[in-house]
Amino acid sequence: MSYPLSPRWRRRLPVPTVLAAATVVLLLVSPASATTPQAAAPAEADPIAGQQASVVEVLLDGTAELDALVATGVDLDHGVERTENGVVARAVITPSEADRLTAAGFTLGNVLYRPEDARARVAEREATIAEHRSENREFAAATAGKTASDVSDVKIIRADYYTSGTSQILSVEAKWAQGQTATNTLTVERDSGPGTAIGSGGTQTISRFVDAGVYLYHRGAATVTSRPEYVRITSPTGDVAVAKVSEWLPTPGTNPEGPGYEKDFVTSYLTPTELYSRIHQLAAEFPDLAEVVELPYKTNGYRRHAQAVLGTANASRVAVDSLAWGHEGGNDISVELVDPGAGNAALGVTVTGKQVRVNLGTNGSGAVTSTAAQVVAALNSGAGTLLRAYTYRGSAGDGVVAPAPRTQLTDDLSAPASVSRDPHPVYAIRIGKHRDGSKTGVLAYAQEHAREWVPPLVSVETAERLLRNYAHDGRTKQLLNNLDIWIAPSINPDGGHYSFYDFNSQRKNMTNHCPLTGAADFLGRDSWGVDNNRNYTEYSLFDGYSGASSSCTSGTYAGPSELSEPENRNLDWLASRPNIKFSMNLHSSGNYFMWSPGAYALPDRTSAPRPSLADESFFWGASSRILTAIKQHRNMAVTPARTGPISDVLYSAAGNSGDMLWYKYGIYAWNFEVGTSFQPDWEEAHAETMEFANGLVELMRVARDFESDKKRPTSTLTVAPSSTAGMVNVTFDVSEPAAVFYTLDGAKPTYESTLYGSAGIREGGETLTVPAGTQVNWFSVDAAGNVEKNYRPDGKGNNYRKGRAVLPTS
Ligand SMILES: [Zn+2]
Repeated sequence: MSYPLSPRWRRRLPVPTVLAAATVVLLLVSPASATTPQAAAPAEADPIAGQQASVVEVLLDGTAELDALVATGVDLDHGVERTENGVVARAVITPSEADRLTAAGFTLGNVLYRPEDARARVAEREATIAEHRSENREFAAATAGKTASDVSDVKIIRADYYTSGTSQILSVEAKWAQGQTATNTLTVERDSGPGTAIGSGGTQTISRFVDAGVYLYHRGAATVTSRPEYVRITSPTGDVAVAKVSEWLPTPGTNPEGPGYEKDFVTSYLTPTELYSRIHQLAAEFPDLAEVVELPYKTNGYRRHAQAVLGTANASRVAVDSLAWGHEGGNDISVELVDPGAGNAALGVTVTGKQVRVNLGTNGSGAVTSTAAQVVAALNSGAGTLLRAYTYRGSAGDGVVAPAPRTQLTDDLSAPASVSRDPHPVYAIRIGKHRDGSKTGVLAYAQEHAREWVPPLVSVETAERLLRNYAHDGRTKQLLNNLDIWIAPSINPDGGHYSFYDFNSQRKNMTNHCPLTGAADFLGRDSWGVDNNRNYTEYSLFDGYSGASSSCTSGTYAGPSELSEPENRNLDWLASRPNIKFSMNLHSSGNYFMWSPGAYALPDRTSAPRPSLADESFFWGASSRILTAIKQHRNMAVTPARTGPISDVLYSAAGNSGDMLWYKYGIYAWNFEVGTSFQPDWEEAHAETMEFANGLVELMRVARDFESDKKRPTSTLTVAPSSTAGMVNVTFDVSEPAAVFYTLDGAKPTYESTLYGSAGIREGGETLTVPAGTQVNWFSVDAAGNVEKNYRPDGKGNNYRKGRAVLPTS
């Protein structure tokens, strides 16, 4: 194997590095990103719960229905969006208001903002404001009054030039020491290309990026008319920073797809049944190159018990569930609550076939006196072989029931009979000339979230491109001859079917973990299920991390325990295959491209460990290749601001799959957030499929290059003046993404030595300030495990790099 150090090497990082990483400042999640669809959750369907308001989508057929909604007097937020299917309004409503809207015939969509979000943010705020302010004070104190070039009070973090559509854009991020207290914008001066004067390309201003009262850095993007080579910022105190502009996602001059390369194989959205059928057809057509693997765990099935809730007031409601599954006879059961129309009647139940009749008890004047609790007891004793009854959501059931006409129990599932109601197998297609585990493995998986319909198409389009181009495209042949590719187009088929046929906004699987005293009844059916992307084992809710819920009706319900769900155990099984080194978790939407860490713990936002500088560099380097391939389709640029660790660019997501793959299995695990919405119109869905399939194929090329990487990294030591007498500043540069381990005490460097770290979030390598004359010993090692100069870092080798921290003579 060509990567002897991975993943064990990562796990062997010295503990102090991990602890230091945990205290690194995190970018706070802004309210705007907290309302992206990933954060959205179905309504907490428990009307007994608190009465604080949430922001909830109301899905309307058109403007007439919108007018009717307005006429109810409901509190509407400013968001009213016209969609292909009508109008989506956003209402700020309590749970009981939500119930009233539903009863009035309105269809509610996602909850965009919940009271807990606000409370959590307030709690976060207290902790983080103090932490970040003290860091800013230290930075300001350390740089006050100093004039050496290493302590300019302004530092340019990134300067990225890119094109998007027909526009040319320059994006700049810079940190200014006074940014916490002073509100100034910063002016960026541009040149107009190589050899031109700074300022000749015009200027742009960048503004403070402040989150929860804490200054993080200045940032901003502006359109430009030519590509600048250098930019300069002069801070309000007169300090200066200059940086070279790098090109973000340059459009490649040559198409990586050779002549005759075939693509564009999907022509419509595909249900999970159709996705599985597609990969079976492909494997049958290319038996030498592919096979379908049934994963070890079947789902719990697209099936439910038949149910009804009789009555309207909570204390007098009676909830009824069939014992049989709906499709296995439960749907044939009916219940009626009959007023006998006579005085002093006894409560009783009669069963005729599957018709259950409850004769309600009355008093001497003929008024019904049976309470919900009494009717529940009578049903369970008189019809307990067909059904179970219970009071509504933990109510004592002391309200007198109202007579109810015959009501058919139903599982309310609308998919055609061709969709199996049994526990469902989950399939992956395995592609490669040698499918024996001897080749580097790549895993792509989609539809953990049921309503995300484009990502599965990206996965099957990619599979088909690989197979149909093998015979005549040399680069594709290289991929299939040298990689072991696993593509699982739908991890959550039950939820996927439910999303297609019953409830478009379904995010989770279909398993009802709600207790009978909770939302297990018929009215809770659209809120059940486990968020499969919160049920994994690393940095989970159960470990105390943020961004998942213990509520069975939450959109981010983490389940009763880690890996409680068959969908999740299947992915764990896939990831545990020892040859898998790369993975892509395909989601939508937002055009994000992300990696670990994906979670932090409140209240102090303790992050899961950040990747080493070398791994971070590798993530960025490979990402730029993948995003460039995506951009090639229609010049859609995933922006620098949407690229990076999940918890930096989006929000904490405790127990997500990417973190499990990275931290538990050492897999380079990325996450796509494809496109702009869950179920865009087909023209857009098709374009997104084509562009992200470009990116997924490029991931295969990254894996192939990694697998064949035998090139050793080289490194250089740079020594610069320090503003502190007797000290010098030391930095390392490497020829490719590589880790540097170093000692400052003359000892041989090993993997236990200090790992050279990053200067801060989204910044490059740190500056070490050491006494002039210090002996520096080090070596570098790349992501594929190639060590500089073939040094053996096990304590026996001697040809490590050696240098003295002395200033070069000029
Ligand atoms: Zn998702």
